[in-house]
Amino acid sequence: MAASEKPSLPAEQVMDWDQYVSEFQKAAHQAVDWVADYLCDARRYPVVPNMKPGDLVDALPRSGPQRGETLETILSDFDSKIIPAVTHWNHPGFLAYFACTGSTPAIIAEMLAAALNTNGLHWDTSPAVVELEQVTLGWLREWMGVPGDWFGIIYDTASVSSFHAICAAREMVDPDARLNGSSGNLVLYTSEQSHSSIEKGAIAAGIGQLNVRKISADAEFRMNPEALAGAIEQDRSAGKKPFCVVATVGTTSSTSVDPVAAIADVAENHGLWLHVDAAYAGTAAILPECRAILAGIERAHSLVMNPHKWLFTNIDLSAFYTRRPDVLRRAFSLVPEILRASTDPRAIHLMDYGVPLGHRFRALKLWFILRYFGRERLQLILRSHMDWARRIAREIQADSRFEVVAPVPFSVVCFRYKGSDEENRHIFEKVNASGKFFISHTHLGGRYVLRLAIGNLGTNWEDVRAAWEMIQGSRGQ
Ligand SMILES: *Cc1c(COP(=O)(O)O)cnc(C)c1O
Repeated sequence: MAASEKPSLPAEQVMDWDQYVSEFQKAAHQAVDWVADYLCDARRYPVVPNMKPGDLVDALPRSGPQRGETLETILSDFDSKIIPAVTHWNHPGFLAYFACTGSTPAIIAEMLAAALNTNGLHWDTSPAVVELEQVTLGWLREWMGVPGDWFGIIYDTASVSSFHAICAAREMVDPDARLNGSSGNLVLYTSEQSHSSIEKGAIAAGIGQLNVRKISADAEFRMNPEALAGAIEQDRSAGKKPFCVVATVGTTSSTSVDPVAAIADVAENHGLWLHVDAAYAGTAAILPECRAILAGIERAHSLVMNPHKWLFTNIDLSAFYTRRPDVLRRAFSLVPEILRASTDPRAIHLMDYGVPLGHRFRALKLWFILRYFGRERLQLILRSHMDWARRIAREIQADSRFEVVAPVPFSVVCFRYKGSDEENRHIFEKVNASGKFFISHTHLGGRYVLRLAIGNLGTNWEDVRAAWEMIQGSRGQ
């Protein structure tokens, strides 16, 4: 029976509890069946919805319902109204932006975490949240070859992780800023290829956009350490205060890898915090043959990698590591009386290490994923993705009408039709309008470039081949 048919509840309780739970049980089974069906055959949907902005808003009521509705009705509207407006990131033909996919162990863990709704702001409010986060991030840290004494914390996104790194850097170099605000003198360095979240983080931290130096990259889109050293020296002699360098392992456009060790030399020389943004490619360090991408990491101060990119984790989950948790804590800790908690040294209080107070039980899904796949299976999948990327890059290169425009160190291929930007844009639009595949584009070397990113668990080699064939066939008008 729907809540709407029972307007009057006894004054002593707000829900008819048994009925509430049994409605859930029935609808949740239906929802799981829907999910299994969806995962079996996501290909039946166009990857990108065929709609105009505002279509969904117009299709839904302007005001919320006066009376509650049944879960069956809501589920049915989910299928008929919401799904047609969804871009299917879990579609095997999703080859845009970044290799990413959710996975079934994480779906289950998300449901369980939602059922508990437990909040690990400090240890006392949920030991499981705090301790499972330390355990799972410890496993991952070991698999990636990050030093065992680094502290790990989960934030929602890499953008937020990097923002916290920037704040810790400010705390290390200019400890007065916490009290007085930034002097406007601090300067941050990152490559011209780095993710926009770094500049945004500097804006949010009050560093000022004009105090972000974009260091030039080489022909393979890697930050130039000599140019970095030169820029720092120039700022120093102008009376500025360099405080932070952000290197990228797996840049957003081309997935290039900045030379972390050489950048660490420069950062050390000048006493700067070195943050490494490995949001996408950090996952590859799980492979022994890719360990070198993080060479020098022990001399950095912090690292971000996103399990929600290439580690089959449903959004959102960003893993942030630092060897200076003391500085991060100094930057953020502020404890009013109501939040005073256990003083046992093993009781970690996550609220001390960042902006958010509340802390979702994200570690649960990471625990499910790491255990379900295991290290070997993860390595196998990553190797396949990288192998397919290299194979398709060879095929693209073998077609004289196309060219691969950047090295392919991971699972992303950047390439272009040897024609005008306009012609490449036309290919991009035609492929994406097919509904079968979704690719993205970027600019490299001042030219419009197509990008194909492999990383979905449901994608297979045939999908990648078929996407390439469609791209070949989409030239011209
Ligand atoms: C994807 C990405 C980001 C942003 O990630 P969010 O989790 O969406 O904030 C930042 N840096 C790099 C290198 C990325 O690949």
